[in-house]
Amino acid sequence: MQNLRRYCGYDIQYFAAIEPQRRLAPHVHIAIRGTISRKELREVIAATYHQVWWPPIDQVVFDGGHLPVWDDKSSTYLDPITGEVFPTWDDALDAIGDEDEPLHVARFGDRFDAQGVLVGSRDASRCIGYLTKYLTKNVADCHTPGTDAQVRHVERLADTLRYEPCSPTCANWLRYGIQPKNPKPGMMPGRCKGKAHRADHLGYAGRRVLVSRKWSGKTLADHRADRKAWLMAMLDLPATDPQRYTWEPVKPSDADHLSTAHRLLRVVGDRIRWRQALDEARRRAQGLPPDELSATGVAA
Ligand SMILES: [Zn+2]
Repeated sequence: MQNLRRYCGYDIQYFAAIEPQRRLAPHVHIAIRGTISRKELREVIAATYHQVWWPPIDQVVFDGGHLPVWDDKSSTYLDPITGEVFPTWDDALDAIGDEDEPLHVARFGDRFDAQGVLVGSRDASRCIGYLTKYLTKNVADCHTPGTDAQVRHVERLADTLRYEPCSPTCANWLRYGIQPKNPKPGMMPGRCKGKAHRADHLGYAGRRVLVSRKWSGKTLADHRADRKAWLMAMLDLPATDPQRYTWEPVKPSDADHLSTAHRLLRVVGDRIRWRQALDEARRRAQGLPPDELSATGVAA
């Protein structure tokens, strides 16, 4: 998004969600406010990449029972047989030369699909569905492997991720004869607790939802005021009459206070009911017959 912002020369408002494809590579759905041509988007995507300049990991130095040992005196790891001290993280970085390649390069694939969508349209609801569909799930739970080949693919990925260094401080660097950054006793290759190694993250340890600060241009207080105004308008009540109504947050000691889970469920239920009531009112206003599905609640 930074590249897009640089290209366009102004702040982009966006909401994006990361989810896996069937082959488990991540892909991203992005809602962008405003109009940007497909040509510009293609150019920005083609020019966007990320390089990770880390030491090479093509040679396994320690494996199985052959593991480096911690030396308290020097606060470093040593080869248990030769007593050799491995390069520190900074030394290993300094050893990367002009001729070397980055350890990882991440770039976008060929697939790209941009659609113009109008606010409030059926298409907009469909796109919001795409953006939010998998957000309550772990990234690995979005697709269930359907064949033996797919199961093996998931296992191979988990095996590979186990020994892939996830960060400069990852214990896996020891496997390749390099001291991790800030080494400490007890580090063991293949046992790093980093999210990227866990099967349920599919190697993706970053945020699943990316939102620009200026998505709505409103603060939380603005949103609360909006909701209050909407509610008062719907109920046809004088929102500004302090003689009749006072507003205060519900406290845990109040009799009608609900747990967060219950409140969330109730909010979801309310939203579904409001949406149905609103759709129904719109249909009536247009002189259309009642919607059988939503009237019986089947669509919910
Ligand atoms: Zn790690």
